[in-house]
Amino acid sequence: MSCLFCQIASGEISAIVVHKAEGVTAFRDIAPQASTHVLIIPDRHIDGADAMAASDEALVGKLIHVAAEIARVEGIAERGYRLVINQGRDAGQTVDHLHLHLLGGGPLHTPLV
Ligand code: AMP
Repeated sequence: MSCLFCQIASGEISAIVVHKAEGVTAFRDIAPQASTHVLIIPDRHIDGADAMAASDEALVGKLIHVAAEIARVEGIAERGYRLVINQGRDAGQTVDHLHLHLLGGGPLHTPLV
């Protein structure tokens, strides 16, 4: 198994896991870009948004639900946060395992949309 995030999901590689739900793992980003920077991933390998199948819809929806739950636990839900999925080279995707970035804990000054 060569995928880094598959190895984190299975516990083979350590990470600061903040949440484990059925089929979903969330852990702190190793190079945080905000005071709170958590990655939420499906345990099952999906290359990215472009590789998502219709049968993955519930699982991918769960990533957002888990992110909102973590935001509440981290105390950033009230002030707000950003959820980001990078897909492909132009977006800067560096790990080819679908992941949702949860960013917050202070103003995020670089709106893209
Ligand atoms: P992306 O650029 O959207 O593909 O995001 C990949 C993210 O994974 C980056 O923000 C990295 O800092 C993060 N990352 C890479 N390796 C690890 C690791 N071993 N543990 C936690 N986060 C990681």
